[in-house]
Amino acid sequence: MRFYSTNSPQQTVSAQEALFHSLPADKGLYMPTPLPNLGASFFNDIADLSLADIGFALSKALFGDEISAVDLEELTQQAFPFDTPVVTLDAGKTNVLELFHGPSLAFKDVGARYMAGLMSHYSRRNDKEVNILVATSGDTGGAVAMGFHNVPGVRVSILYPSGRVSDLQEKQLTTLGGNIQAFEVDGSFDDCQAIVKQAFVDSDLNEILSLSSANSINIFRLIPQGFYYVRAYGQVRHAGKPVVFSTPSGNFGNLSAGVMVQQMGLPVEHFVAATNLNKVVPAYLQSGSYLPMSSVVTISNAMDVGSPSNFVRLAHLYGDDYDRFKANVAGYFYDDEQTRTGMKQIYEQYGYVSCPHTAIGIMGLQAYLNESKQDVTGIALATAHPSKFKPLVEDVLGTEIDVPERLAILANRPKQSIRIPALYDAFKESLLTSVS
Ligand SMILES: *Cc1c(COP(=O)(O)O)cnc(C)c1O
Repeated sequence: MRFYSTNSPQQTVSAQEALFHSLPADKGLYMPTPLPNLGASFFNDIADLSLADIGFALSKALFGDEISAVDLEELTQQAFPFDTPVVTLDAGKTNVLELFHGPSLAFKDVGARYMAGLMSHYSRRNDKEVNILVATSGDTGGAVAMGFHNVPGVRVSILYPSGRVSDLQEKQLTTLGGNIQAFEVDGSFDDCQAIVKQAFVDSDLNEILSLSSANSINIFRLIPQGFYYVRAYGQVRHAGKPVVFSTPSGNFGNLSAGVMVQQMGLPVEHFVAATNLNKVVPAYLQSGSYLPMSSVVTISNAMDVGSPSNFVRLAHLYGDDYDRFKANVAGYFYDDEQTRTGMKQIYEQYGYVSCPHTAIGIMGLQAYLNESKQDVTGIALATAHPSKFKPLVEDVLGTEIDVPERLAILANRPKQSIRIPALYDAFKESLLTSVS
């Protein structure tokens, strides 16, 4: 499998190049080519396969020419020691795909752990240390920190907006130490992302350090996210109905991954793009014009993205054809008030505790099902465990919720971060100091 840039589809690079360099020099985004079509028979026969088994089968189809089956098997077994179960809320029509059973309790574990496994596979052959830079609005940082902790030859610098991530999210990225360093930025997520982007085009810095990204601009975060759509299909196929996925979205990596795996042959009837007030994609689906904006702060903070970096990929998957895009994806968005009401209703109606992002996914799914009136199996992606947003969830539901042990133990660990103003030069200076 090769990778081309969305800005110059004629030229391709190797998987290793796309993995380590993250961004093509022409500022496009890497896309895999060709996407293998696995055919209906593959998807008919997966009910008994675990997430790791499915990851292995798809990895073989994608990278079998570059990485041995033995290595791919080891990589996928180590990356996915957990499942992504489908939980039914009502008679099979509304289901949630729980993606939060990994170590950081958010779906980003899947992409981060697979990417870490691949980097460690290749870096056995590299002699230069890789420096991963990652901006986080909350969950990416924790998943990347845990996925890459103690991976030899890799150092991780995480930038997060001070005061804008939940306490437990902050603990996940600031308490590991070792090869993981957190930078607490006095600014917004967009500021963090801008600093990271500037670092990648700073030729002086790139001469000193070998830089790579673990944000979803890196195609290797996205590819493994396709695996759990397949795993979900394996769990509901027996119902014999068309399947609709609703993906609560911010940077639109998760939805891009779903569309990619659909193009590999996974039978998906329709997608729902569900967002908070950062609604540029639902607005695009409605009007046909794509108008990025400054991000708005909401209670579903992991989706506070006003200029989603994967929109280019999504559009590309539809051949930059608005009608094709619109024929496959429905868009819905919700403000904080509606999100709170949704979380409450989901709890009262089904006894299901959802984080605000997941609630938006469920509401989007139900809105679509009501409108389309088709008899389908609906699956909303549950992107994070509600306990990552404990104070909010408890306030909305008026009840106490459980915190899994692996998250609870972080509460007493001391936070270690380097606090910096939202200025590129300040970051560069403290990065160079911290790695030397
Ligand atoms: C990252 C994240 C999202 C948004 O995913 P994208 O791939 O950026 O669209 C949604 N919910 C949660 C909990 C997240 O952490």
